[in-house]
Amino acid sequence: MAAVPDHTEHSAALFDRASAVTPGGVNSPVRAFRAVGGVPRFMTSGDGSHITDVDGNRYLDLVCSWGPMLLGHAHPEVTAAVQAAVARGTSYGTPTEPEVLLGEEIVARTPVDKVRLVSSGTEATMSALRLARGFTGRAKIVKFAGCYHGHVDALLAQAGSGVITLGIPGTPGVTEATTADTIVLPYNDQAAVTAAFAEYGDQIAAVITEASPGNMGVVPPRDNFNAFLAKTCTDNGALFISDEVMTGFRITKSGWYGVDGVRPDLMTFGKVMGGGFPAAAFGGRADVMAHLAPEGSVYQAGTLSGNPIATTAGLTTLRLATDEVYAKLDRTALTIQSLVSTALDKEGVPHVIQAAGNLFSVFFVESEENAVIKNFGDAGAQVLPRFGAFFHAMLDGGVYLPPSAFEAWFVSSAIDDDGLAEIESALAPAAAAAAAV
Ligand code: PMP
Repeated sequence: MAAVPDHTEHSAALFDRASAVTPGGVNSPVRAFRAVGGVPRFMTSGDGSHITDVDGNRYLDLVCSWGPMLLGHAHPEVTAAVQAAVARGTSYGTPTEPEVLLGEEIVARTPVDKVRLVSSGTEATMSALRLARGFTGRAKIVKFAGCYHGHVDALLAQAGSGVITLGIPGTPGVTEATTADTIVLPYNDQAAVTAAFAEYGDQIAAVITEASPGNMGVVPPRDNFNAFLAKTCTDNGALFISDEVMTGFRITKSGWYGVDGVRPDLMTFGKVMGGGFPAAAFGGRADVMAHLAPEGSVYQAGTLSGNPIATTAGLTTLRLATDEVYAKLDRTALTIQSLVSTALDKEGVPHVIQAAGNLFSVFFVESEENAVIKNFGDAGAQVLPRFGAFFHAMLDGGVYLPPSAFEAWFVSSAIDDDGLAEIESALAPAAAAAAAV
């Protein structure tokens, strides 16, 4: 059983020190527990399905570093490969063999013809947009409200009201000029896409979407939305960019592509392919990728791109991620979903669980009647205080969930029957806590 985390003094002390030197005390906002309150836990180690904080509390981990840790923490083979790579030197600024091997692995698993390695998902989507604009000679980009593609200026535009909302900066520091060419539409809304193309069709360079969105909670595409987007793009001379940073190499051997088989012009990857190190990629059609420097004139570069440690960790992770691993991830995710539903039903807490393969999230809705979350607007209509109470009770029970109601839960293949039992025993009081709100 996981220890009950009733001690947080060391995390609290570190958070104070962190807050003195770093805005909000964290290096990525959602880590700060702002949505749920309380002391963010500072982790010191991970082993398999668990992580341990500075106060010695051990948690069953359902965040998995927001996706990368598909095999769990400190997998012995990944650790050994990384240690051996580190001992040979950590970066040369020259081409290396692991980059080639990782590139070949990605090309073998996905529909991309060519791939370029970068260091974060943000870089991947930013570069894919530039390439799409360079290739088509067009300026406008369509994105969907509630989809997150990293903190690329042009993609931080939020949806306003109306069918077609020309991007309004959602973040101070992002200028109106930067988002003037971003069109934000409601997700899963084919009519909105058709209307946008009717008005701006010959100016649209690309449509970018999460392959199956997981950043407003899990909101899968409905009615062949991706196939519709791909066709609309093709018919109008635009590129279809599928962002598989979260889903890639997690949901199936390729990603969401392995579920719906819609072939994008460009794809972006990250998370799992770095095995816990900074590695990401974008890739796609050979004729489009040929426009990238040094082959073509669209510039893109990176000092640490294809870093030998990151590529070694990613390659080792992908090689270990066999069909059996994906089958286990699917089983584990289904079991957890059913445990959550059983516990919440027992306490009469209305909820909807939506899944995209082994990615899933729980929405605390007002009522289960006709409750389907199709877009960002639906996702926003949750009873958020219920999630906060549930989250903290799970944390007290030794289960680490994403500290936000708008995030997917991530499983690792290291979760075994004991881990599932830990989740089950944490769920009963957590469901009661949610019911009490
Ligand atoms: N795209 C998607 C779909 C993501 O989920 C994320 C990160 N959560 C990103 C892009 C950005 O990746 P990174 O945080 O590595 O910049």
